[in-house]
Amino acid sequence: MEPFRKDIRSVKGIGEKRAQALNKLGVFSLFDLISYFPRRYEDRSSVKPIALVQDGESACISAVVADEPRLSRIRRGLEVVRFRVYDDSAEVSVTYFNQPYVRNQLQRGNSYRFFGRMEVKGSRRSLTNPVFESEELPAGRMSVTGRILPVYRLSSGLQQSALRQSIRQGLDSCRGQIPELLPESVRTGYGLMAAEDAYENIHFPQDTAVLDQARKRFVFEELFLLSCALGSRRKADRSGIVVPKPDFMPFYESLPFSPTGAQRRAIEEAASDMASGRQMSRLLQGDVGSGKTLVAAALIWQCFQAGYAAAFMAPTEILAEQHFRTLCGILGGLGVRVGLLTGSTRTREKRELTEALEAGSLDLIVGTHALLSDGLHFSRLALTITDEQHRFGVEQRSHFGTGEHTDRGALPPHVYVMSATPIPRTLALIIYGDLALSVLDELPPGRQKVDTFCVGSAYHQRLLAFIRKLCAEGRQVFVVCPKVEEDEDSEISLTESGKKLLSAVEYAEQLRQELPELRIGCVHGKMKTADKDLVMQQMTAGALDVLVSTTVIEVGVDIPNAALMLVENADRFGLSQLHQLRGRVGRGEHKSYCVLVTDSESEEARARMKIMCETGDGFRIAEEDLRLRGPGDFFGSRQHGLPEMHVADLGTDTETLMKAKDAADRLLALDPTLSLPEHAALRDRVLLLTEKLDGTLN
Ligand code: ADP
Ligand code: MG
Repeated sequence: MEPFRKDIRSVKGIGEKRAQALNKLGVFSLFDLISYFPRRYEDRSSVKPIALVQDGESACISAVVADEPRLSRIRRGLEVVRFRVYDDSAEVSVTYFNQPYVRNQLQRGNSYRFFGRMEVKGSRRSLTNPVFESEELPAGRMSVTGRILPVYRLSSGLQQSALRQSIRQGLDSCRGQIPELLPESVRTGYGLMAAEDAYENIHFPQDTAVLDQARKRFVFEELFLLSCALGSRRKADRSGIVVPKPDFMPFYESLPFSPTGAQRRAIEEAASDMASGRQMSRLLQGDVGSGKTLVAAALIWQCFQAGYAAAFMAPTEILAEQHFRTLCGILGGLGVRVGLLTGSTRTREKRELTEALEAGSLDLIVGTHALLSDGLHFSRLALTITDEQHRFGVEQRSHFGTGEHTDRGALPPHVYVMSATPIPRTLALIIYGDLALSVLDELPPGRQKVDTFCVGSAYHQRLLAFIRKLCAEGRQVFVVCPKVEEDEDSEISLTESGKKLLSAVEYAEQLRQELPELRIGCVHGKMKTADKDLVMQQMTAGALDVLVSTTVIEVGVDIPNAALMLVENADRFGLSQLHQLRGRVGRGEHKSYCVLVTDSESEEARARMKIMCETGDGFRIAEEDLRLRGPGDFFGSRQHGLPEMHVADLGTDTETLMKAKDAADRLLALDPTLSLPEHAALRDRVLLLTEKLDGTLN
């Protein structure tokens, strides 16, 4: 590896100025330089007969200069060189603007290669400012036609041709020394190009077939390195607090319903982890409404039985309050002492809670990310649970479970995270590769499919009648409006058809007039917590028929009597968001409905609505979401905590991903620390990546 750490200034032709321009691109070492892959390629490889080049096509031609290039000055500061060229098939007129020297470089009667964008108007063909070079290049000059040319992202002060030259020099200077990271068995087993060839061909491919080979190798290499890095973290077991596994029967018997098989399995899996003496890091994946909270409650009870405390963190205050009530309901009767801490807990109350935590007189603290605040010190903390973990930033996730809130020298608490899987299944494997996985693949009994419809705003009256009917039957209704506050940009406050988008507050006002016989509440993000909480409690208690809200109720809210989710201007929401919203209904025994209201004509919006109407499967929706939005956007938030991929595309290279992960797992089984001499180069790179990961993952 050493020669690659060399500064780029040691490469022939790279002086201080060019080095600085390269530094701006993050290129410092020789290795960085040869790893600076093209952004795209220009295929100038095949020379086309002029007559076959289409209008607007960029192509390479080989042609003879027909007449003496003429220089004319059209006006001050505008010089034009014009001439004609021909091949066996046709003739083209060529024009250069402000490049008077061209006149002296081209000779009538000689043949050259030109590359440029052809314009065809009738029988007239023209090329403007084409790249050209003579058919016979002087030794050492890099040809820019008749080949596939790499195109790089540039920084100011750096030209495409200069960068190409530097990379050429860089590659030449490490010929024969590029280490092969991939174990031979892996490389040949998956039919991958050798490192040396791959570096050459990713920059300067002879043809598109070898370019594909080179790219394929780097995609694999990148995903393989990532899998090795994640895999080796997983193997690094840490000691954990031993929390003996209790007999769960008394717990199960205290519940108003019998846990599903999937819930029991998930509870068993985590319970065994916590009893094992190693620290648990486990993800519970379960679609909306699958009953994750109950699993969490069981694990908290396990801790309680052994004399330990637990902390439960939710992404919103509404959800924290709801969990507080639910968990008090399930666990309170069993003697568990529960506290609630959110951003709006009063100072005096907070002090009391802090003291109780310190003194060990609380067994469970439920809260928002306020739980991460400094100065909070838990005595006997054995378990941290994060609900809807994808809603937390990586930063926040990383503090929970490191043990920094526990006694100095004490073992770190077990880590349990729960999510309704907004990411496709295969990716979850890699992204949460350092976590063990439990899946709730069964919904509580009696759940029916939520019938989903998409209608235009013209249906408003009919929807009002539907709301009346449901409420008369004793059901409740959610109405969600896109988050639009009064003060927001007026342009985004209009629908596509130019109608004003109503805010939740305005909508609630309108509904109160349209449905005077119903009790209508409203909740949105700008309300005071106490007010929000009051409205949510009224809704939970059945004291409201309709709750109009912004997306503050998007995740987790659990009101089983609600039977209709009405989403206004549904085109404003992403698929995963719509799925979460729909998940607020169909949580009890009542037949439930989701109505998506939109007048949007956009094809993409239509596609989203269609998928929602077709399926209730969260995994499929996540996959479609990925497909429609594209990986850039899907992973745009970078909440998954993965380093940026350079060649691989986590959205579409899933097949390679699975292969690479397989290969990595098998290799790590043989050499868990990659300490065999033949894995030295690989180990170097994996360590580098692990450092990056440690910066982002817990
Ligand atoms: P989520 O997985 O979306 O967090 P919740 O934990 O909020 O789901 O549970 C959804 C609803 O299902 C709650 O009302 C809960 O009481 C109920 N529930 C959970 N488990 C069962 C079960 N085994 N049988 C019947 N109802 C259940
Ligand atoms: Mg939940």
